[in-house]
Amino acid sequence: MTHPLSQQYRDLQEQMAQRTLELEERIGQLDTLNRITQTVTTVHNLEETLGIVAREMVLLLKARNSGITLLNEERTELTVVADYFSHPDEGNTVGVTIPLAGNPSSIQVVQTGRSIVVPHAQTNPLTESIHPLMRRRGTECLLIVPLLARGEVIGTIGVATGEPDREFTPAELSLVETIAGQIAGAIENARLFSEMQRAKETAEGANAAKSTFLASVSHELRTPLTSVLGFARIIQKRLDERILPAVQSDDPKTQRAIDQVRENIGIILSEGNRLTTLINNVLDLAKIEAGKEDWHMQSLSASEVVEQATAATSSLFEQRERLNMITDVVDDLPQMFADRDRLIQVLINLISNAVKFTEQGAITCRVKVVDSEIIFSISDTGMGIVESDQPRVFEKFTQVGDTLTGKPMGTGLGLPICKEIVEHHGGRIWVESVLGQGSVFSFTIPTIQLEIKGGGAA
Ligand code: ADP
Repeated sequence: MTHPLSQQYRDLQEQMAQRTLELEERIGQLDTLNRITQTVTTVHNLEETLGIVAREMVLLLKARNSGITLLNEERTELTVVADYFSHPDEGNTVGVTIPLAGNPSSIQVVQTGRSIVVPHAQTNPLTESIHPLMRRRGTECLLIVPLLARGEVIGTIGVATGEPDREFTPAELSLVETIAGQIAGAIENARLFSEMQRAKETAEGANAAKSTFLASVSHELRTPLTSVLGFARIIQKRLDERILPAVQSDDPKTQRAIDQVRENIGIILSEGNRLTTLINNVLDLAKIEAGKEDWHMQSLSASEVVEQATAATSSLFEQRERLNMITDVVDDLPQMFADRDRLIQVLINLISNAVKFTEQGAITCRVKVVDSEIIFSISDTGMGIVESDQPRVFEKFTQVGDTLTGKPMGTGLGLPICKEIVEHHGGRIWVESVLGQGSVFSFTIPTIQLEIKGGGAA
């Protein structure tokens, strides 16, 4: 039963031609896949990307048309976001919505997350609700593949043929599924990105509105407060110097009234000062957070900054006989690039806190350099902070410990301001503390890095 040699040769030639065709087709498919992958990763406009994908699919599968839809949040309808027709005069369906209700083929894909092939689409019950459309378009076979992102159907890719009995092969189906896998990720990323962008814009808008509000309210409060304080000071002075010495009375009631007036005016002044500090702090923080702070960055020496901060806080120690200030600054510290006044503000804040929360012992200001950072630390021998409260002290309006007993001695804004300032300089701030023994507040400021020319980065 052997064929004559010539017949065998012809068969072989035919088989080879067939294989070559298949191979060419496969190469064409891989080429398309490659183009789609490149489009998805390089084109940032999602609509444009999907339009290109729809066209590539029509060309690849020699189909009649192709469309890409996205499912709405309620999962009730699909909206066409890209399409391509082999006949350009067929019009554009982008923006058209396809309700899932009464559309068994789409429902099946959305519910199962599996692709389906619908042959004889003009009469098949799976496409019943769109038979008129299928007829108008001359659709023969319809392929619907789900777009799956993190296991959820977010849309579909549809491809339709227009020749009788032209159906999709399993190889074509798996190719479209591969393409669907490629673009679902891109769609999801684009969605997440725009959601994030929206959330960021909303948050930034709210933050800017809050900062502007705080800045204007604080400003409005500061002006009248300045005159209230100014007049209270004048009244105190006049009372002490002129009025009270002139009131000579042995009447105990009058004497009590005099003491009370003195005490009350003292309270007006101290509370007014507290309010001024609070308003200044709120203004400072609002300005930094809104990015409106004018930073005067310059090359600075750490020891000079420490000297100025300790001089400015020396008066705090005058009434505190059992409290000493110690400075321990290593020699030859490298320069840093920083805002002098803001850095002094941080040190004054930390020293003032240390004094405020320490009955006796010492406040030590240390400065050393580790790697490319200057580390400032202010340690005290005061009341300390419970471990669980330590991270909270840098939060706004937080006064830890027992604030119910005795009135709070500050605003709870000093440390958040320090944090903003330090972080603006590219540094970090932290606290180490043992309850009843004391606290150490430290922060870093990067040193100026000198570039060694010709030898790479320093
Ligand atoms: P305040 O103006 O209230 O001091 P801060 O933001 O400067 O605001 O500090 C927040 C809180 O952190 C303080 O109220 C206090 O409870 C705690 N704290 C800050 N510094 C020290 C310190 N050196 N020792 C103990 N507790 C401190």
